[in-house]
Amino acid sequence: MSALLEVDDLRISYGKVEAVRGVSLRVHDGEIISIIGPNGAGKTSLLAGLMGLVPATGSIRYQGRDLAGSEIEDRVENGLCLVPERRELFGDLTVAENLRLGSYVRRTDISGTRQRLDGVYARFPRLAERRTQRASTLSGGERQMLALGRALMAKPRLLMLDEPSLGLAPLIVRDIFHIIKALKETGVAILLVEQNARAALQTADSAHVIETGGVTLSGKAADLLHDPRVVATYLGGAA
Ligand code: ATP
Repeated sequence: MSALLEVDDLRISYGKVEAVRGVSLRVHDGEIISIIGPNGAGKTSLLAGLMGLVPATGSIRYQGRDLAGSEIEDRVENGLCLVPERRELFGDLTVAENLRLGSYVRRTDISGTRQRLDGVYARFPRLAERRTQRASTLSGGERQMLALGRALMAKPRLLMLDEPSLGLAPLIVRDIFHIIKALKETGVAILLVEQNARAALQTADSAHVIETGGVTLSGKAADLLHDPRVVATYLGGAA
């Protein structure tokens, strides 16, 4: 079966800084692939390149189609969706308004907004309770839920999550990763960039370690959890 996303030799530079140096990876339908690695390794840049937010060279094939020259809007239209690290909610708008905006990023598929909204509220009861509350008044965990819910309103086929656990308390991190696993059950493919290597590896099917812009280690997530190099560098030395 050909992969949903096929990335080959992806390179991204900012002037003289080469942030991504020849990354290749595959994501299949309904699969969670994690990218772990230290600060500044190029993880965010990789997602930005896949989304079309920064120029990249190399090959990105999505649904069998070459994305070279494809606009961000086209990528969104075809079910590529990024939840950025900063979550980028509209603080003055309510939970419900933020969610509805998720639907409107897709030009051709606004019908079904109501139904998708109900789906998001069923998945995130906390958002349903707070639907009239301004996003700026939500807790960190609720904001992350809102960012995920808003992404789901765009009916993603491949969801890219940048550090969904950032700044959240451990119990909330656990909730967020449960939600990510549950999303996989709906058939969405997920490319998950995470600094919390343990949670990422416990959630993913496969994973790649990225260091200074290149993949240094790849494998089944369950195996990487016991790989001595991963244990020593990313899991605090305790298997
Ligand atoms: P973090 O986890 O800290 O976000 P990261 O693995 O996501 O790190 P990137 O944010 O992709 O890494 O950064 C990779 C490299 O590219 C870093 O050296 C960073 O300073 C540089 N970089 C990122 N964005 C830009 C930019 N807009 N202009 C110049 N350099 C950039």
